[in-house]
Amino acid sequence: AAKREGRNCGQYFAPVMQVAAQERMRLITDLRAALSHQQLQLHYQPIVDLASGEVHKAEALLRWKHPERGFISPAEFIPVAESTGMIHEIGDWVFHEAARQAARWRRERPDFQVSVNVSPLQFENGRLALSAWLHHLRSLDVDGSCVVVEITEGLLMEAGPEVTRQLLRFRDAGVQVALDDFGTGYSSLAYLNRLDIDYIKIDRSFVSNLKPASPDLALCEGIAMMAHKLGLKVVAEGVETEEQRALLQAAGCDYGQGYLFSRPVPATQFDALLAHRSHEPA
Ligand code: C2E
Ligand code: MG
Ligand code: MG
Ligand code: MG
Repeated sequence: AAKREGRNCGQYFAPVMQVAAQERMRLITDLRAALSHQQLQLHYQPIVDLASGEVHKAEALLRWKHPERGFISPAEFIPVAESTGMIHEIGDWVFHEAARQAARWRRERPDFQVSVNVSPLQFENGRLALSAWLHHLRSLDVDGSCVVVEITEGLLMEAGPEVTRQLLRFRDAGVQVALDDFGTGYSSLAYLNRLDIDYIKIDRSFVSNLKPASPDLALCEGIAMMAHKLGLKVVAEGVETEEQRALLQAAGCDYGQGYLFSRPVPATQFDALLAHRSHEPA
């Protein structure tokens, strides 16, 4: 076996790199199988209106239930999907599935929105199956406003005319756009205006150390003020404690998302969560 591996991987690989390369190959093969064997699923995490406590939105988060390894984190397999091009097929599946759920939840709640994470690579070379996505929305008989596309700052950095054009076509169909992990990248604030963003999601790293009179709180207040002046709404990510929730609300954030409210759960559990919460006083 050592001889075969040596030949395939090249003699310059240190053993530890060789193991890493083999694990990666394995992950690629398994991910292909996962797509065709329905091992991918979406979990949904509520996005809570901080003023009323109501749930009007959810973020769809991809989960891979590997037959032997159990759940594998998207942080581990999304980069693999990106580097192999599988992200296109996976991204299409995510959008279709999330839109289907959004349409279902919309029957009871006319404003309900599901956000989906879109990799910057999906916008490359016009490969994003935008027409198919919009067709899917029409076939579900819902308008685009039931979906929010979450993009990261990195995408905006490189946003050429093609990305801008695609984002604007989404906007024409009513699909809204959220800037994810805000504050961790290097994007110019000018992009917020140019690309007509609807939501800013303040990254969890600003929320986790939130204390009264802390620098992170000042940042959250500043982001919320700026966002509101630009006509954007603010979602705070990674809200884990009641103290954080109260500080974020006072700082002017519109929505919160985090373990304090709920972990990401399968759609059926999300149904139960919606039913339960709608009985709570606002
Ligand atoms: P993200 O879009 O920033 O998603 C938020 C992440 O924070 C999720 O991790 C969520 O489970 C986690 N989270 C939520 N509340 C809390 C909290 O209170 N505390 C802590 N510690 N964590 C919290 P997850 O599900 O592991 O996803 C990681 C990242 O993988 C996502 O970050 C997103 O960038 C990417 N991802 C997930 N699903 C997809 C997908 O369908 N497509 C693409 N392209 N990327 C995805
Ligand atoms: Mg996200
Ligand atoms: Mg995020
Ligand atoms: Mg994040």
